[in-house]
Amino acid sequence: MSKNKETKLLLESEKEKIVVQLRALKDSDPFEDPTHVTDNASVDTDVREQEAHQRIEAEMETLNKRFHDIDIALKRIDKGTYGTCRRCNKTIPAKRLALIPETMHCVSCEEEMIK
Ligand SMILES: [Zn+2]
Repeated sequence: MSKNKETKLLLESEKEKIVVQLRALKDSDPFEDPTHVTDNASVDTDVREQEAHQRIEAEMETLNKRFHDIDIALKRIDKGTYGTCRRCNKTIPAKRLALIPETMHCVSCEEEMIK
């Protein structure tokens, strides 16, 4: 199997994992509970549910962003630019790609971008 094909399979399986995680998060969101609006919960429960909802939304946002990055990584494999830093054009070390396969930047660019 070619390296590209291997990476693609890995990225595809990561996407599937994210879909499962997103579904689980949505299911655990108290706001998704159809009885939520009418359950006349105490203020305490409302606050707890609000917090849970916000945490879940934040987690879903992170996962959605990752999903999007993986899609870009898959397109970059087809274009032949996968594994190359989008900012400085240097080759991203294999070790880093093994850790974060969807990364589009080398460590130094990533650090520069956070600043
Ligand atoms: Zn770079």
